[in-house]
Amino acid sequence: MSKEEQRLFSHPSEAELEAGLACDDAECSGEYVKKTRDITMKRGSRTVTIHGSEYWECESCGSFTTAKEEIQRIQEKARSQTNYTGRLTLRLTPELHRQLVEEAQANHRSLNNELAYRLQQSLEATNGKKRI
Ligand SMILES: [Zn+2]
Repeated sequence: MSKEEQRLFSHPSEAELEAGLACDDAECSGEYVKKTRDITMKRGSRTVTIHGSEYWECESCGSFTTAKEEIQRIQEKARSQTNYTGRLTLRLTPELHRQLVEEAQANHRSLNNELAYRLQQSLEATNGKKRI
């Protein structure tokens, strides 16, 4: 099970919440009540907003949780609304910037191509080993 799956697994299901799940806080005797909110997140260079996302809030203590099914819907909506342009702004230390320019010159590549090449190599080297 991946870290992501474990994180998802720890969330209650909609069926458990609909049945009146007790608050997660051991010292609280409250129950979760369904509410909705808009979620805004940065994806790539875009801001994605998901309207009316469901979450569950404890009436007694105010702690809240999200059903695992809703988390999957949020992730799917965010993926479908994300538009990867292939353009981004990168911030580096001046020293790393200088080293990369020198590498690009030594390899007869533009800085852009040097960076793209190195990122591609890095992805291929780690693929399947440590997906985050
Ligand atoms: Zn509570």
